Amino acid sequence: AKKAGKDRVEIFEPAMQAAFQAGLQLEADLRRAVVRHEFTLRYQPIVHLRTGEITGLEALIRWQHPDRGTIPPLDFIPLAEETGMIVQIGEWVLREACRQAATWNARREGLRPLSVSVNLSAIQLDQTDLPETVAQALADSGLPASCLVLELTESLLVDHRSSTLRQLMRIKELGVRLAIDDFGTGYSSLAYLRRFPVDIIKIDKSFVDEVGDVPAAAALTLGIIQLGQALSLSTIAEGIEDAGQLNELADGNCELGQGYYFAEPLTEKAVGELLFPQR
Ligand code: C2E
Ligand code: CA
Ligand code: CA
Ligand code: CA
Repeated sequence: AKKAGKDRVEIFEPAMQAAFQAGLQLEADLRRAVVRHEFTLRYQPIVHLRTGEITGLEALIRWQHPDRGTIPPLDFIPLAEETGMIVQIGEWVLREACRQAATWNARREGLRPLSVSVNLSAIQLDQTDLPETVAQALADSGLPASCLVLELTESLLVDHRSSTLRQLMRIKELGVRLAIDDFGTGYSSLAYLRRFPVDIIKIDKSFVDEVGDVPAAAALTLGIIQLGQALSLSTIAEGIEDAGQLNELADGNCELGQGYYFAEPLTEKAVGELLFPQR
């Protein structure tokens, strides 16, 4: 065992060293990316399940790395959070999403305005000037506050600081809506649904995946939808990939959904073509 232990160290040391260096490299690259604006947004349509109408879009960040191509958020957001760079990156996401949504809405003469959903990290919520940042993004873009949704994860609310509730209240006063992302994962405490000024529940994909196959998952999902209804919250099912899931969720009175069945996260150009096909 001792020998195996020693061998393991010898085998893994270069690998760990390499991982460490790769981490440092990624951090340096990320700092450069912030300065050089190497980020872009994709937008995934959010659809009314009964009518198929697009009611909004979720902004999802991508990093266009000069050598490595497109890097998905899960490969750099955690590092951005650890290093605090998420504050600057997140502010860019917010401003860019508001600007883009206002541009689309201006072209939708007479139609119901689309909302745009932006993911927020806990570190951003800890910034005392976040409400001002949000207000400024709305003012500069001209997007009405009612068209902005901020998505927060469940864990963010469960491990909240005493300042979290105050921050959320200040943001709510602007007229912005709040969604709980990945609902049903993490340490769910139903109490916080009443404590925090939430408007929308996003049912995590892991539930949606099993709707139609696993009776217990279907029952849980329908239970979440009913819970939402009882609290007058909208429900959005995440990660709908087939018609069976769609039908089950629509029958269960889930209001909204998003997923590859409707559309993947799209470029700004592709959204334009989807929303304004005749031009
Ligand atoms: P999320 O907020 O839960 O976003 C949903 C993720 O599921 C997205 O991955 C989306 O592309 C993917 N997805 C949507 N529909 C389907 C489907 O039908 N099937 C499958 N398999 N996947 C689907 P993405 O874009 O890679 O984002 C991953 C996570 O990164 C997001 O999860 C969010 O937590 C985080 N993220 C993305 N953009 C931002 C951002 O601007 N700021 C922060 N703080 N986090 C972000
Ligand atoms: Ca989200
Ligand atoms: Ca989610
Ligand atoms: Ca997720």
